[in-house]
Amino acid sequence: EKMETQKMNAPDSLWRPMTQHKMLLQNHPKHIVKAEGCFMINEDGDRILDGTAGLWCVNVGHGRKELAEVAKAQMEKLAYVIPVMTSDPVVELSAKMLEMLGMEKGHVYFTSSGSEANETAFKMVRQYHLQTGNPRKHKIISRHRAYHGNTLATMTATGQAERKIGYEPLAPGFLHIPPPYPYRRHPKLTEEEHGTECVKFLEDTIIYEGEETVAAFIMEPMISGGGVMVPPDNYLTEIRRVCDKYNVLLILDEVVSGFGRTGKMFGHEHWGAKGDIFTFAKGMASGYMPVAATVVTENIFEAFYGEANELKHFRHVNTYGGHPVAAAVSLKNIEIVERENLVANAAKMERYIKAGLNEFADHPFVGEIRGKGLLLGIELVSDKESKTPLETARSNAIVQNCMKQGVHVMRNGYTVPGLDNVLIMAPPLVLQESEADMIVDAIGNALKQALN
Ligand code: PLP
Repeated sequence: EKMETQKMNAPDSLWRPMTQHKMLLQNHPKHIVKAEGCFMINEDGDRILDGTAGLWCVNVGHGRKELAEVAKAQMEKLAYVIPVMTSDPVVELSAKMLEMLGMEKGHVYFTSSGSEANETAFKMVRQYHLQTGNPRKHKIISRHRAYHGNTLATMTATGQAERKIGYEPLAPGFLHIPPPYPYRRHPKLTEEEHGTECVKFLEDTIIYEGEETVAAFIMEPMISGGGVMVPPDNYLTEIRRVCDKYNVLLILDEVVSGFGRTGKMFGHEHWGAKGDIFTFAKGMASGYMPVAATVVTENIFEAFYGEANELKHFRHVNTYGGHPVAAAVSLKNIEIVERENLVANAAKMERYIKAGLNEFADHPFVGEIRGKGLLLGIELVSDKESKTPLETARSNAIVQNCMKQGVHVMRNGYTVPGLDNVLIMAPPLVLQESEADMIVDAIGNALKQALN
């Protein structure tokens, strides 16, 4: 009978991601019917500030007619072509991306999601080493707390234990090391020493595993959904040095940080070192089209040359990889990011929001306010001295309270056990001061009420 009631109350037949549907029976969220700029509008007409730019992807903001028009024109002209053939927008986009990355040469492989972009990178690095005289190099090292995707291999690389329960056995050949975490570093270490310590985790792991078995290291320039963790300034350059020393390819997952999110066009620009491979999705087309890319240096690409029947080419295809409409929209999206100086706006708004949030620095639950550009986080604690993470129910209540005030922010829920205490703000890069004020005010009110 209980089942029957639940069924009757069930709102629809949609299986939502990351959702405990039992809770939905009591509290069914309203559908979003429209969005413009930084706001979503629900079926009741309420305006909700999209403080997370969807899933940190709608960089140019919602409701851009220009993007819809480009999509329409491209669909009418050529909606689809088998990916082994090519279309103008795809060729133009690959050239544009290399130019933006400052790469004179290189190659771009298109897919349609960040997970696929990383999965593609994993297959490429293994085949690359096989074909360059290092057939035992297959292991891929990543970091705890990082997110790299939902497929079996990218989920294995993901350093979030709670995303893996129930899906084992995972993919073999993956290892994890701790990420830099300045807020919780050993108190005797400076930030820089902590950075060096974390680089040593990589070097030691490579040595212990046998350098002849390690293919690649994958990292987000700064960990995003895992808890907005900004590395010490020396970290990336030292990682680059270790990767070079052991012929380990460095994959930079720019899925979130690419295209302006962190106040530079690409996240790695903050720290002055480059990857051998870059992966992109999200901000590439601001969510208007599903599009992603894996960009490799020419040196990697050249390892795939061979005779027709040698099986040295990359034997991998996605029906929607190199989609002409997605590429056309991505090109126009990039044009908007450049034309409207959205990267500079992200950097400016970082300063503005941080100044606002710093007003709450003395609040007993505010452990640390951190982030870069419009990828900002507040680590919530129940005790500042011991840095005990705030309980899930309380940090969740803060998120819900913001929503009641019409502001959508998120939390790094269901990632690693006991550390789901980071509020995440990642609004569209078109954010204006009045909208930033709404986010800061909502968080301020929610923090105040959380003490009651
Ligand atoms: N990499 C990072 C850093 C991400 O945050 C995400 C998604 O949130 C992905 C990869 C996977 O992207 P997608 O959800 O498009 O598969």
